[in-house]
Amino acid sequence: MAGPDAKLEVIQTASEAAQRLKAINLAISEACAEAGHPERKVHITAVSKKHSAATIRLSLEAGLRLFGENRVQEAMEKWPALREEFPHTELRLIGPLQSNKAADAVAFFDVIETLDRAKLARVLADEIAAQGRAPRLYIQINTGEEPQKSGIAPGDVDAFTAQCRDEYGLPIAGFMCIPPMGEPPAPHFALLGKLAARNGIPDLSMGMSGDFLIAAQLGATHVRIGSGIFGPRPS
Ligand SMILES: *Cc1c(COP(=O)(O)O)cnc(C)c1O
Repeated sequence: MAGPDAKLEVIQTASEAAQRLKAINLAISEACAEAGHPERKVHITAVSKKHSAATIRLSLEAGLRLFGENRVQEAMEKWPALREEFPHTELRLIGPLQSNKAADAVAFFDVIETLDRAKLARVLADEIAAQGRAPRLYIQINTGEEPQKSGIAPGDVDAFTAQCRDEYGLPIAGFMCIPPMGEPPAPHFALLGKLAARNGIPDLSMGMSGDFLIAAQLGATHVRIGSGIFGPRPS
């Protein structure tokens, strides 16, 4: 299965963005059909972190309406004007969330994909109650049990999901994972699917530019694609 084209440049026009999007959607359809799930709908979260508002606007003009950002501050600087210009745009937080940014995140994002500890669950529950605004929440799962990576260990997922639901009254809409670098991702995607099924979780956010087709075949409902759409991130 092909990864991203290493020669991709940063998009310069909306039609370039549309072309890449079309190719990605086609590849996903083919991969799902090959896996025996021709009916499956996989949503593309365009990961726009580090890209300028001008670059992001091209992708909005190409029809993208689902975006992922990994920093609260950066998203709050770039997105308010774009969102006004393109209503019905959904913003997802896909990076770690510090408790002291939880109020901003609840106010700003439509989905928070990185709920990864009990303290954050409590702070989010308090903010949701205070603001009367409830982003959909995903739990991040550290499928590779990597010490430096955020996320709930697979063995703790059932208890943590129950704690979020029962103790904090938080409906959990999805699970998210980032497999370890340099390992085949398939076992991690399969594990995330198994944990989700067992806990009655509908959404699965997994797969990035290099492995989204495998993720789609293993049941991703949302793949997070940055460089495959926008090209390389500015450093
Ligand atoms: C940056 C990022 C992505 C997108 O990575 P690409 O390889 O550019 O597609 C996906 N998920 C998360 C959590 C990220 O931080």
